[in-house]
Amino acid sequence: MDALVSLSKRRGFIFQSSEIYGGAGSCWDYGPLGVELKQNIKRVWWRDYVQRRPDMMGLDASILMHPTVWKASGHVDNFTDPMVDCLECRRRFRADKVDETPWVHYCPATKGNKFTISAGEPCSHCGVTRTLCPECGKGELTPPRQFNLMFKTFMGPVEEDASLTYLRPETAQGIFVNFDNVLQSMRRKLPFGIAQIGKAFRNEITPGNFIFRTREFEQMEIEFFVNPLETVDGRPADEYWHERWIEDSMAWFRRYGLSEENLRLREHAADELAHYAKRTADIEYHFPIGWSELMGIANRTDFDLKQHAKFSGKALTYFDEERKEHVVPYVIEPSAGVDRALLAFLADAYREEEVRGEKRVVLRLHPELAPLKVAVLPLLKKREDIVRTAHAIRDELSKDWTVVYDDTAAIGRLYRRQDEVGTPYCVTVDVQTVGDPAKGEIGDRKVTIRDRDSMEQIRVPLDQLGPLFRELFGGATWGGVAGRFGAN
Ligand code: ATP
Repeated sequence: MDALVSLSKRRGFIFQSSEIYGGAGSCWDYGPLGVELKQNIKRVWWRDYVQRRPDMMGLDASILMHPTVWKASGHVDNFTDPMVDCLECRRRFRADKVDETPWVHYCPATKGNKFTISAGEPCSHCGVTRTLCPECGKGELTPPRQFNLMFKTFMGPVEEDASLTYLRPETAQGIFVNFDNVLQSMRRKLPFGIAQIGKAFRNEITPGNFIFRTREFEQMEIEFFVNPLETVDGRPADEYWHERWIEDSMAWFRRYGLSEENLRLREHAADELAHYAKRTADIEYHFPIGWSELMGIANRTDFDLKQHAKFSGKALTYFDEERKEHVVPYVIEPSAGVDRALLAFLADAYREEEVRGEKRVVLRLHPELAPLKVAVLPLLKKREDIVRTAHAIRDELSKDWTVVYDDTAAIGRLYRRQDEVGTPYCVTVDVQTVGDPAKGEIGDRKVTIRDRDSMEQIRVPLDQLGPLFRELFGGATWGGVAGRFGAN
């Protein structure tokens, strides 16, 4: 994790928010490369799930909503974590997580010496387990109290209870309250889904682990509505679609680079299920902090639509033409965090390799996710014709892709820099490309393309650059196309 945090800062992926003021607790800003990576994740997700599927539509609901939404959804009463406070140092902990961190202990068996003991372990000298504050080792902890994770705010110019509302803690409710709008305006038949990407806010008691748990984050959520009266392949439609979404979501993460061995599915046990859920499965990823939730896929039944119908007085039903009756659809909810997905993609892509006795750091990001697609590098920055050609290539390629020009170091170092941020291909313009006009040479009008992963180099005519990159970014493999060109 330290390597990722340091690379992220050094290479412009992620900065601590308000850093010059000492930082804002667990808030992070995405820098020039981070914002590209994040947008690529959201773009491929939207393309794969909304653009390419006939049964899906998009939505962009507002973050501030009518406060009753959160009463109906159960968030006002139930979106809480148990919290304990230290009476001595006033630090606050999640009661159910307090034994998941190392704890400070002043051991009576060693004249009060201070030790830091591993999470959940007893003291090896006196044998006691932790009861006091794990941070200061001195204060008693209060009994657990429920703490609501929603950020409160006021809508309008008067700060009074009547104008109290919340920053949304999930994007899902914006979809439920628009169910009827979408149904009426788009005239869809069940099953269909509504997808949304947007910010969510949770006043987490113990945020941390870089962008894994933050107070402001982004979600990519789908509510997939199904007819509970229908069966598919002999199974109730909701159970069938739940299974389909679990498989689809797993495959999606694998497709964009997460390795099989770092992904697993975890079923929620009956006593862990939210009261509205019939079944929930989490996709867990082997993050640098251990196995943790990357996304949740829940069968929320008809709970949300029924709750909003009850609180709003509006019917949120679907007319089943075949059976001639109104039904309340069941809903399957695949819900992923954008920031958590980004952390997983970064962690899986990060490699430290040895190349000819030197360390090379490389981000083996999927080309579709890579923040920069191509770097154009002039071999000699003093040769005006080489530089001009390199700029012209950058200008041309940047009509289709995110392309950079860099001449600030020698070629070997420029390659390493691009490897470190995951740029799939470098294009190098050299003397051979432009020739030597003084000698009457016109050059071969070819450039070198270097592949990030294999470090192989091929020589490609300038007029074939565009078509070649179109092939490569359209899914062709390096091995599949490189053979057509001569090696460098
Ligand atoms: P956790 O158990 O980690 O708190 P959750 O079960 O409360 O997560 P959900 O409500 O299911 O999370 O939210 C769906 C997804 O949103 C999660 O799988 C995760 O990817 C993301 N997410 C939730 N909370 C945060 C957070 N505080 N910071 C970053 N991402 C988050």
